[in-house]
Amino acid sequence: MTFDYVVAGGGLQAGLLVSALLHAQPVAKVAVVERADRLGGNHTWSFHAADVPAGAWPVVAPLVGASWPGYRVRFPGCRRTLKTAYHSIASDGFDRAVRRLLAESGGTLRLNAEVTAVAADRVTLAGGEELRGRCVIDARGASGDPGRCGWQTFLGLEVELDSPWPDALPTVMDATGPQDGGYRFVYALPFTPTRVLVEDTAFADTPVVDKPPLRERVADYLQAAGVVSWRVLREESGALPMPWAAAAPTAGVPLLAGAAGGWFHPATGYSFPAALRLALAVAAVPPERATEAAAALAARLRWRLGFARFLNRLLFRAVTPSGRWRVFRRLYRDLPDAVLGRFYALEFTAADAARVLVGRPPPLDLSRLFALPEVSPCPPPLR
Ligand SMILES: Cc1cc2nc3c(=O)[nH]c(=O)nc-3n(C[C@H](O)[C@H](O)[C@H](O)COP(=O)(O)OP(=O)(O)OC[C@H]3O[C@@H](n4cnc5c(N)ncnc54)[C@H](O)[C@@H]3O)c2cc1C
Repeated sequence: MTFDYVVAGGGLQAGLLVSALLHAQPVAKVAVVERADRLGGNHTWSFHAADVPAGAWPVVAPLVGASWPGYRVRFPGCRRTLKTAYHSIASDGFDRAVRRLLAESGGTLRLNAEVTAVAADRVTLAGGEELRGRCVIDARGASGDPGRCGWQTFLGLEVELDSPWPDALPTVMDATGPQDGGYRFVYALPFTPTRVLVEDTAFADTPVVDKPPLRERVADYLQAAGVVSWRVLREESGALPMPWAAAAPTAGVPLLAGAAGGWFHPATGYSFPAALRLALAVAAVPPERATEAAAALAARLRWRLGFARFLNRLLFRAVTPSGRWRVFRRLYRDLPDAVLGRFYALEFTAADAARVLVGRPPPLDLSRLFALPEVSPCPPPLR
């Protein structure tokens, strides 16, 4: 049998592809091959309403686990509530939803299956079995050296509380705490009044995630919020590259998708906006034209991705680590919701980009910007 689409890897990009493909082409035969025993790993993926292009909500909705009508940010001397809806996808619900979509369409899901080779027309599994496809997409996640980059490091605890969390809205950045080790903030997602994900995040120069002190920071934040006792349900941690020298996504055969193909926002480390756009573009054309559609999208996004990489270079090379928080306070203090939404969604205009750059600069260290030789602090492999 030849499938219409064979997707290697069963993470965020694969799930968005499955949903977009089966929405646009309900009779398409799709196969997904994942090495783990479930789809989506151990993640909470969040995104802004503006990350979803007009008309694309039905593609995303089956995956969404929680939604809020707005979100907050807090900096010294600046608090703001944004009236932009915020959503999150949790691995458990993602796994169930993608399995259901595949099952309902007669698709194929191979779990506990290691992909050993991906070619233009087939995916080879450990043991030699081959799945053939009219379109083969490699979405096996980040791998290799991300090049010169800063890092978004984080550790989050999802906790069950003995008393209600004091806020029904997410706090996407609370940077009122100590600014050590880079731009440091707490991220809090209240899924229910008594179940919340609290993450300590830093835009740091190295990918080191030293877990014990980060757990203590999260505990301190919970205590400061008035929580007396809690039970940890789940822990997630990671280090996302924020590159300034990596190449833009390219569209080849087989198609390299997701983080592996560079389909993520360099200035946030987040995959959702680029991965969704790629899924929608691929789903809008027949399998044989997927690469062409991806190439057109890559061309449309190119300058925006380049601008985001330029911002990373400024942030990580020119701004002192302890002064980075001022960059984000300025953005959230000065920019309207719509501009921030377009920035996160990779849909910003040239005028938006100018507004992101304009303003009183934070403390700069220009010697770092052009320092040579510049050695990557990044120790891959990520896969
Ligand atoms: C804890 C955490 C939180 C994050 N939060 C967000 C967020 O809020 N919003 C956002 O947009 N991004 C977020 N990110 C970034 C985002 O998770 C990744 O960039 C995104 O998952 C990339 O999607 P992907 O499909 O390319 O790769 P992945 O989601 O990593 O999926 C790759 C899949 O391929 C499988 N695989 C790999 N090799 C093989 C093989 N040889 N054979 C078979 N299967 C294989 C893996 O097991 C995995 O399931 C977060 C990352 C982490 C670590």
